[in-house]
Amino acid sequence: MLPVAEALEIVLREAQPLPPRRLPAAQALGLVLAEEVRAAAPLPPFAASIKDGYAVVAADGPGVYPLAGRIAAGEMADFVLQPGAVAYITTGAPLPRGADAVVQVEDTRVAANGGVEILRAARPGEDVRPVGYDIATGAQVLSAGERLGPAELGLIAAVGVTDLLVYARPRVGVLSTGDELTLPGAPLLPGRIYDSNGPTLRAAVEWAGGEVVDLGIGPDVESVLRVALDHAIGTCDIILTSGGVSMGELDLIKKLVAAAGTVHFGRLRMKPGKPCTFATLPAPDTGTEGGRKVLLFGLPGNPVSSLVTFYLLGLPAVRRLGGWKNSTLPRVQAVLDAPVQLDSTRPEYHRARLTWDETLHGGSGGWLATSTGSQASSRLLSMHGANALLELPQAEGQLPAGAVVAALLLTQATGSQ
Ligand code: AMP
Ligand code: MG
Repeated sequence: MLPVAEALEIVLREAQPLPPRRLPAAQALGLVLAEEVRAAAPLPPFAASIKDGYAVVAADGPGVYPLAGRIAAGEMADFVLQPGAVAYITTGAPLPRGADAVVQVEDTRVAANGGVEILRAARPGEDVRPVGYDIATGAQVLSAGERLGPAELGLIAAVGVTDLLVYARPRVGVLSTGDELTLPGAPLLPGRIYDSNGPTLRAAVEWAGGEVVDLGIGPDVESVLRVALDHAIGTCDIILTSGGVSMGELDLIKKLVAAAGTVHFGRLRMKPGKPCTFATLPAPDTGTEGGRKVLLFGLPGNPVSSLVTFYLLGLPAVRRLGGWKNSTLPRVQAVLDAPVQLDSTRPEYHRARLTWDETLHGGSGGWLATSTGSQASSRLLSMHGANALLELPQAEGQLPAGAVVAALLLTQATGSQ
């Protein structure tokens, strides 16, 4: 049985980023940049007012001044502001030539003679954003390897870029195997159950950043599964199968995969999810993608086992192919709110809900972990509401309430990593 950390090393060694392609920025949310982005022009491109108020010559100081004109955002002043005059200006409008500061409207008053009374002195440059204040010309705004979230897409738009070289989303095939499996919605015959791994894994793949290829349900029939696998190898970068990797007579996946490529491991030292197979399969040479190889994860059939092994090993592979630098789940420390039983034979990934508790760690606050209850690997309800996997060590006995454990977060913000 291979420790999970070693299995992850093998997976990440085999998983290499897919070739980048150019896409419209509107399709790039969540993808990883494969080039740097620089500003061709400064932002703002002109000295801009930060306030609604009056453009002034700072040296003039307080007093009553005639109004030389008005400048709204989007316009250029068609006059030069002379000392001894002011001009009405809105937020984001270009400062007229001759002016060197803005006095906000709150510090002014309309004078009896129709002019404007400036109530206080302004420093030169006050409430003005100089050219290039936010982004200087030529500045690198994004680097290759950064992941595109809302702010990154905004920056790209602000510097006028519309297309980006990004790593493609890997195509991830999801195949549920088992003679007992029925498509949700169809009548359930005796001895059958609904396929829940298919919908679960397809959603998890999408969440991880992959493009789902629905391979449906395959029976426990070697010849049929072989055809399904051959088809998947031709159309996917990663294949996830679930079921058929235990020690039963009809557990065919390992055998099929061993015949089609290289099996790197077949059993993991972890709970849940011991029977998890990882293999690389050569794709037939189509001329355009010479030497392409497909990663296959033969995940266990039990619903919790398949999802947990996907999170630990499949998700990092999906993200690595998509160009992510840190492709594993982020880790934090959490405090147990109640004792948990340990497993003496395998480390366990205990499903839990983390909430922020301000009273922890002497009042500085921390994550409090609450178990989702019975951790049976068939009980998908133990994943329901879980936002973390607690990494419990292999040991005798219990961890007490208050013990600090590492937790893998099942949530992930977009943005640069
Ligand atoms: P297996 O790995 O094929 O031996 O399956 C282990 C357990 O998981 C059995 O109880 C299966 O019925 C169940 N199982 C396998 N595949 C699925 C699936 N797609 N959806 C729900 N349960 C499944
Ligand atoms: Mg089965």
